[in-house]
Amino acid sequence: MEELVWSKSRVRRFKRCRREYFLHFYASAGGFAPDADTETRELWFYKNLQSADYYLYRLMRRILYKAFCLQWSAMECQDELLKRWSLDMAEERITFYEQVYHGMTFNQIRDAAAESVINAGKILIHSELAPFMRRQKFRTVFIDQPLEFMLGDIIIYTAPFAMLCSGQEYIFLELTGDRMLDSAAMHRYYACRIRRIPAMAVKSSFYNITTGELWSPEFEAVNFSATAATIGEEVETIAMAIPEEIIARKAYFAISGAPRDICSKCNFARVCRQS
Ligand code: SF4
Repeated sequence: MEELVWSKSRVRRFKRCRREYFLHFYASAGGFAPDADTETRELWFYKNLQSADYYLYRLMRRILYKAFCLQWSAMECQDELLKRWSLDMAEERITFYEQVYHGMTFNQIRDAAAESVINAGKILIHSELAPFMRRQKFRTVFIDQPLEFMLGDIIIYTAPFAMLCSGQEYIFLELTGDRMLDSAAMHRYYACRIRRIPAMAVKSSFYNITTGELWSPEFEAVNFSATAATIGEEVETIAMAIPEEIIARKAYFAISGAPRDICSKCNFARVCRQS
């Protein structure tokens, strides 16, 4: 039987379009291998396209790791962000979504995104994150792989950026545009069950990488039981939608149900069989 897996991004993808979910997780699997068939290889290529915005988000994440390890000033962060962006753009090693779908050249993408890189640098300087991370009594543990643990028979993946520990207080920090109470509940579950930290000592903060704002939910707002029940339902819905015979046949879902505006931003728009 297929493993039951939950992650925020997985569920989001499934809700957006079941066909996209299937193409992303199953039909493109193994497409990197030299002996992969043409269709699988093609799906793999589309799956791995990234937008300039998403690339920038990942770049900021990388810079922040180094910044906190090396105690960089905000200005040094901005310089590094611009330097890395220019280097990556000069090497032209990435195929961007905009190149494939909007016919933009590498130079056009670079010029269009340059302003966002500068704004991102300003956010790093002026945001609430810098003083938050500089709090003296805290030790920062960076989490470079998603946390993986079991919730009953479900494998949970959650990807906080760092954990700040003071001995009395443990704060999970996520870099995201969303306010995610379910992730906060999973941080608490992980801390209590796996790390044996008392629930009251665990907090979560969410840093909006676009606006520079920091949000921390109140302890009472994080309802673990309700979240666990919702996760169970979400995973069950996905498991029922993709029975093993569909996976084995590598079949596309007959009806995706995705609205047109979703399709227009989908990596698989060129190869999807939806008419
Ligand atoms: S193009 Fe539309 S229907 Fe096809 S996979 Fe993407 S979102 Fe789904």
